[in-house]
Amino acid sequence: MRILIQLYIVLLLLAGAPLDTLVDSEHSLPAWYDPGMRDETRMAWEALQTAASKDGIKAIIFSGYRTYEYQAEVYAREKIEQRGEAPIYSTRPGHSEHQLGTAIDVTWPGVPIGLNDGRNDRLYAWLNDNAHHFGFVISYPYKTSDTWPYHNRWLPVVTEFIHEPWHIRYVGTSLAQMIYEAGYLDPGSDVTPQDFYRAWP
Ligand SMILES: [Zn+2]
Repeated sequence: MRILIQLYIVLLLLAGAPLDTLVDSEHSLPAWYDPGMRDETRMAWEALQTAASKDGIKAIIFSGYRTYEYQAEVYAREKIEQRGEAPIYSTRPGHSEHQLGTAIDVTWPGVPIGLNDGRNDRLYAWLNDNAHHFGFVISYPYKTSDTWPYHNRWLPVVTEFIHEPWHIRYVGTSLAQMIYEAGYLDPGSDVTPQDFYRAWP
């Protein structure tokens, strides 16, 4: 029985998590899951980057694949910096989409991520309009609804939720198109990409 379980784990590792794997405050990845940046993510990212540059938009990866261990370090460091409070911009190990090997934080070259800057504004607006053509979605879109039904890992700030315009995730073009057409980028809509994901393994 034990050998079967080990074989099952090895097969899961080789196959990789499905592109629609749900990772949030309640659904985590095991510490052993260490796929690295996945080839399909890299290829889709390069296609996106090329198309963006044709529109005069520059985009680089600020943060790509993160291991479970690295996320644990980041979380612990931020917790110390925030005097024991739970970090707002960082999540517990196992609960980060970056461990999937399909999530990327994007910024304009030379501009600190998250900085209010015209160049990043242009980049993030371009991503909103175009990311789905390359199989990406914005995982934490801007929402104004105060009846947010989804148990997002971010805390509500009055009636808004902290969103991350820079965090994109590769889910494949057909799923990205489906999520886009469901209107997930509408700030008043309750639709989120996470509605389309499933728990794994
Ligand atoms: Zn991110």
